[in-house]
Amino acid sequence: MADPAEQIPRISGIRTFARREHTRDLTGVDVAVVGVPFDTGASFRTGTRFGPEGIRSASTLLREYDPALDVAALEDLRIVDRGDVAIAPGNSERAVGEIAEQLEDIVKAGAIPLVLGGDHTIALAELRALAGRHGPLGLALLDAHADTWDSYRGERYFHGTPFRRAVEEGLIEPSRSLLAGMRGSLYSSADLADARELGFELVPWSELRELAADAYGERVRERLGEGPAFFSFDIDFVDPAFAPATGTPEVGGPTSAQALDLVRALRGIQIAGADVVEVSPPYDGPGQITSLCAANVAYAMLGLIALERA
Ligand code: MN
Ligand code: MN
Repeated sequence: MADPAEQIPRISGIRTFARREHTRDLTGVDVAVVGVPFDTGASFRTGTRFGPEGIRSASTLLREYDPALDVAALEDLRIVDRGDVAIAPGNSERAVGEIAEQLEDIVKAGAIPLVLGGDHTIALAELRALAGRHGPLGLALLDAHADTWDSYRGERYFHGTPFRRAVEEGLIEPSRSLLAGMRGSLYSSADLADARELGFELVPWSELRELAADAYGERVRERLGEGPAFFSFDIDFVDPAFAPATGTPEVGGPTSAQALDLVRALRGIQIAGADVVEVSPPYDGPGQITSLCAANVAYAMLGLIALERA
């Protein structure tokens, strides 16, 4: 099929994700890309409210066929850009409820939401919407942090707590979840032990870096089994040399090439919903390297979904 850029040059037109049609209509839609411009839950650098527009802009170079996965997701699936959810800054707990409500019709229509964040708080909203239809999900997380803290100066809804809240609300099954990539300084040695106590399997970056991508993929498939899965990618998983524009950068992580290999290794998991979060364009370089990396991660996720639905 001819690239749509043959008709309209890719530097023209209003920015949507991978130049997909912007529509609210969910008829026949396989994947709805949705922006969640929310960063009230950020504890350090803010700016992820501009993540969706940054990722969309960087995504305009994405072409139909992905040789890395041997799939043409943009052709094989009906993918639309649904625009952004309407959300006010200022109150994370209320925002989570409002975001969840606005994602529900996508999930009810049988489409897969691919969310562009936004800080990681929004994962709790996605999981509420998804669990409402699918029941508790398995979680595959790539993140420099486990995001299983209990609270931060009394705040229970912020970007360091979504997966603990999700366990408390019965939205995910820790026994079907694998959290990988954790690195950097912690409050104490108990931080990661706490995540394991919740029942999660944790693979810190020091361990993950020694695994071949395929071995990681095998481990995730084994852990998540057959049930529906939520795949969450925090851009701070990637080394800040490759993805500097993020809320809480941690040095010494994977290159963008390594990160993409690990994403692609997750062939075969039953993705019910996915997100790419924590991109903060105000901290990006002139080449928009962080947004570019995030756009390519989202593209790889679409490839996984296309392979699964084929
Ligand atoms: Mn995170
Ligand atoms: Mn993180």
